[in-house]
Amino acid sequence: MKILVINSGSSSLKFQVIDSQTEEVMAKGVCERIGIDGIFTYKTHRGLTIKERAGMKDHKQAVDILLKTLADPQNGVIKDFREIDVIGHRLVHGGEKFTGCVVIDDAVIQAMTECNDLAPLHNPANLVGVEACRELMPDTLMVGVFDTAFNQTMEPKAFLYGLPYQYYEIYKIRRYGFHGISHKYVSERAAEFMGQNPGRVKTIVCHLGNGASICAVKYGRVVDNSMGFTPLEGLVMGTRCGDVDPGALEYLAKKENLSLSEVMQILNKESGVLGISRNYSSDFRELKDAEIKYNDMAALAREIFAYKVAKYIGSYAAAMNGVDNIVFTAGVGENDSDIRTEICDYLEFLGITIDEVKNREQGEAFKISDGASRVNVLVIKTNEELEIAREAAAVAEPILKKR
Ligand code: ADP
Repeated sequence: MKILVINSGSSSLKFQVIDSQTEEVMAKGVCERIGIDGIFTYKTHRGLTIKERAGMKDHKQAVDILLKTLADPQNGVIKDFREIDVIGHRLVHGGEKFTGCVVIDDAVIQAMTECNDLAPLHNPANLVGVEACRELMPDTLMVGVFDTAFNQTMEPKAFLYGLPYQYYEIYKIRRYGFHGISHKYVSERAAEFMGQNPGRVKTIVCHLGNGASICAVKYGRVVDNSMGFTPLEGLVMGTRCGDVDPGALEYLAKKENLSLSEVMQILNKESGVLGISRNYSSDFRELKDAEIKYNDMAALAREIFAYKVAKYIGSYAAAMNGVDNIVFTAGVGENDSDIRTEICDYLEFLGITIDEVKNREQGEAFKISDGASRVNVLVIKTNEELEIAREAAAVAEPILKKR
């Protein structure tokens, strides 16, 4: 089966074509600056790369360009867009309505639209991508894979805040958790790598990118996730603050005479390691370079980040009454061996010992704990597109067989 994976944002649309049998990426790319000047980047498994300006006044034109390129006799990887069996859409917020992936139809679009309020930046942008594909490929099966779905197994004790219960009942204010597609892929890949049954292990996944979250997965089901009602809660991130006492925000707003939306702008865009390092950088590589040159604020930002990750790991080990695997993934988790060392230094009490030679390795999946360690510590490259393709293929197969 050939799966077109689409990740649609407000002004960009990322795509991959994956052969579900071989799991090979046949082509991938991104349409950026949609509605502005339109930049189209495209790469194929044969080594071809295209980067060009392309008029894209909206997402429909972006999808049109990518379909024409995919089927182009010279540059394409398929003969006709009808060769695409299914489109897998990455969808951010499914609220409590979606606990798994779904075939997208009018009812699903309606239900998703009802979740727009919960993710005003992401869901409408995802839906624009869905509508563009529906218009141009009305007969192609479409499957939606939600970032919140894997986290829907959390119990009320984990997902409820200490707020009056009616706010959950009326407005569905609760912890949803994000990065679910990545946490699912990585926790399952870890078990596969270790030769374990995923239904029998306790895993803590540390998805440490620009946005960062930690997830406790017990016997294949999410027990807790550090992101909350929005992706702002939890760890200190690139530019997001993570956990903050709400009382401090009221105090800040009064002192600086700020509106609620101005405070939110600070929490989302001006905080995290960027804010702590006095605007030096949100990029962990730049912070590391600065730390080496004795920039104390860059060093402090990285120190706070590592401390917070370790605290969450400790609390999730308690939440699951033990842990078998700890996995680092995403930009920082996969590449920053110093941060991994700093985090694991806090975890000696769990019987964790790291082999520093292995920790300097690079690759798709490798173990960095040594033979004496009581917990396996792994580094695994996340692959959300492959997870979407797998889930879309699993849903589509029985349906397409009947057609
Ligand atoms: P997102 O998908 O949330 O934008 P990514 O998973 O792509 O984030 O991660 C981006 C982060 O990864 C950036 O802060 C970047 O500095 C960090 N990163 C990438 N490569 C390295 C590296 N070699 N060492 C340290 N940090 C890295």
